[in-house]
Amino acid sequence: SSPSPESAAAGLNLAQQEAVNYMHGPCLVLAGAGSGKTRVITHKIGRLIKAGLPATEIAAITFTNKAAAEMRERAKKLIGSPARGVVICTFHALGVRMLRQDGEALGLKKQFSILDSDDVTSILKDAGGTTDAATARQWQWTISAWKNSGLNAAQAEVQASGDEDRLIARIMARYEERLTAYQSVDFDDLISLPLKLLQEHDAVRDKWQKALGHVLVDEYQDTNATQYEVLKLLVGARGRFTAVGDDDQSIYGWRGATLDNLKRLPEDYPTLRVIKLEQNYRSTSAILRAANNVIAPNPKLFPKTLFSELGEGEPVRVVDCDSEEHEAERVVARIQSLRAGAELQAAGEQHKEWKDFCVLYRANHMAKPFEKAFRKAQIPYKVSGGQSFFDRAEIKDLCCWLRLLVNNNDDPAFMRSVTTPKRGIGHTTLGALGVFASKYKLSLFESLFSNSLGSALPAKAVASLHEFGRYVNELEYRARHTVGAEAARIFLTDWLKDIAYEKHLHDSEESEKLAAARWTNVMDFCDWMAQRCGGQIDDTSGAVIAAETKTMLEVVQTIALLSTISEREGEQNVVTLSTLHAAKGLEWPHVVLAGCCEGLLPFKLDDDDGSDVAKTENIALRLQEERRLMYVGITRAQRTLAVNWLRRRKKGRDTVAGVPSRFIAEMGLDQTTVKEDPREKIKALRAEFAKRAADSAEANNLAEAARSAG
Ligand code: ATP
Ligand code: MG
Repeated sequence: SSPSPESAAAGLNLAQQEAVNYMHGPCLVLAGAGSGKTRVITHKIGRLIKAGLPATEIAAITFTNKAAAEMRERAKKLIGSPARGVVICTFHALGVRMLRQDGEALGLKKQFSILDSDDVTSILKDAGGTTDAATARQWQWTISAWKNSGLNAAQAEVQASGDEDRLIARIMARYEERLTAYQSVDFDDLISLPLKLLQEHDAVRDKWQKALGHVLVDEYQDTNATQYEVLKLLVGARGRFTAVGDDDQSIYGWRGATLDNLKRLPEDYPTLRVIKLEQNYRSTSAILRAANNVIAPNPKLFPKTLFSELGEGEPVRVVDCDSEEHEAERVVARIQSLRAGAELQAAGEQHKEWKDFCVLYRANHMAKPFEKAFRKAQIPYKVSGGQSFFDRAEIKDLCCWLRLLVNNNDDPAFMRSVTTPKRGIGHTTLGALGVFASKYKLSLFESLFSNSLGSALPAKAVASLHEFGRYVNELEYRARHTVGAEAARIFLTDWLKDIAYEKHLHDSEESEKLAAARWTNVMDFCDWMAQRCGGQIDDTSGAVIAAETKTMLEVVQTIALLSTISEREGEQNVVTLSTLHAAKGLEWPHVVLAGCCEGLLPFKLDDDDGSDVAKTENIALRLQEERRLMYVGITRAQRTLAVNWLRRRKKGRDTVAGVPSRFIAEMGLDQTTVKEDPREKIKALRAEFAKRAADSAEANNLAEAARSAG
């Protein structure tokens, strides 16, 4: 049959149309990355509404809140107001909805609270009689795994294989008692309690089966056993659901996701219609070929082929970098050159926006060098799937102090500095200061030096405020006269000592370990600041990190500017820094896979105990999941892909030789692969930037980048 004009206009191929139009029974769309599975879900919502199903009877389940928000947006665009009322959310959010409505059947009050991970840790400390957060988190992990596989405390104790597990099972029982007492649920309960509800309360189950006419599930390959049961009970025997997924993108095995859910589907629903999509609409052939090659060694659950009609495109680049910092600079240079259009003008491409770029990495901590380099080059970015280094409380504390040095009138910075660390200036004083400042239209800092302050505040308070103001002025004076890396180091050390910041961390942090980790971040930040003051040589590579010297105040000025950039929340035209896991389902024109070294991607595989056979099997399974992760990473890219590895990389406190990931060889790149010498390239870029700097509106930006790249 030829595509109906309507669907064709909507931009669906024949197989996609089949999936969208098949509404009366269970349907599984099984297809590789970028083949339009998510698109099928959005369109099918529209089709179901058109067919007369009330919007409120349609539920679309996504893997993350972000994906849900994006799908809501797309549905709104595609379908318009009739889409209002469709439930588009994660499994967990659906669980909350069910428990709020019907949790009373389980003895749960309507206003139960949902605990975050920190709450859980502290309840577990209490339940297990320990003060050690690390131990409690270990228990948390185990208990979570049990809950996800549908075990309660009693069942966990029965199947426990050793004393350790038996102990944790008993702690779990006490933990559950406490949750009941507090009328609280944890994250895993948001799946396991709705399941219990559906299993044990027929009336509730009937109600929900009637309420939902069709359930659509995205990223089906990453559902776990409990989610599968919930889904099964929700859709009933008729199985009115559409699941879309890709077994090659199952990357949450470590959190209990299981491919068994894919295998079970045809068994549990004999009428299941399985539809395969073969055309990839996202990536160029060069990128797709690399992806197909990487995934090829994994065992196949279902045979799949994927092709693209977007043309061969640019070859995938393999870039070897000297170190993490060098890698980050390379990426900055690359982004700036693409933005400047130097390389793409020939191909007739348009100017690139920040949001066209994404850097993906295996582990959260890998964002840090990129964050630093982006800030230095004034590239706006966001960190998704983990906390930004510059968002950490301790770094924000210090940045507020520095902002105050540059701009005394920065009131939020004033408030944070004057209270961090605590210096005996309390809420009452600051409240009165605020009233005074707004009465005289002064900034908080200016108010300190007003003659009439004494009439508004008690003498003791005024004295402490003066003391603070005097110190800030002194610090500013010193910053102005501090030049070069060594002097900067002394300045920073003195300052932290003056304000007793390390003590503050130890006083405010419940565990010594956390306090120490925060202090390490502080030291790291100081190193970076000192380097930026210049005149410094890198010990390992011998490269000049910053040839020119700057005063501390000049450096601080750029920092201050950057924190305002990053505070513009909702700023969407930014480069994305993301973990591979958090990038699932998303796409960007230009993607960099960072740190593709053995031990990072694949992650270290050999730290398992157990018998040799079990160990070998385990390693094999983990390698398969790591390979899927690489496949997910590669297939996020639409037009260009760079795969970086490091000749030397940090490992804990040490620096070790980096070995290129086995996946790089497996990508099977041909002769045309760019294995550029980064230094040659930087030299060329530097010349290019210098030339452009003269007449470009981005002159300052580029010159800075060229300087720092050299
Ligand atoms: P993933 O496995 O990564 O989740 P996916 O299979 O869900 O990918 P989508 O995100 O739905 O794929 O689609 C990938 C890209 O291809 C999107 O930009 C989408 O708009 C586009 N696309 C999908 N189907 C078509 C089509 N028939 N015509 C044109 N573009 C399409
Ligand atoms: Mg998708």
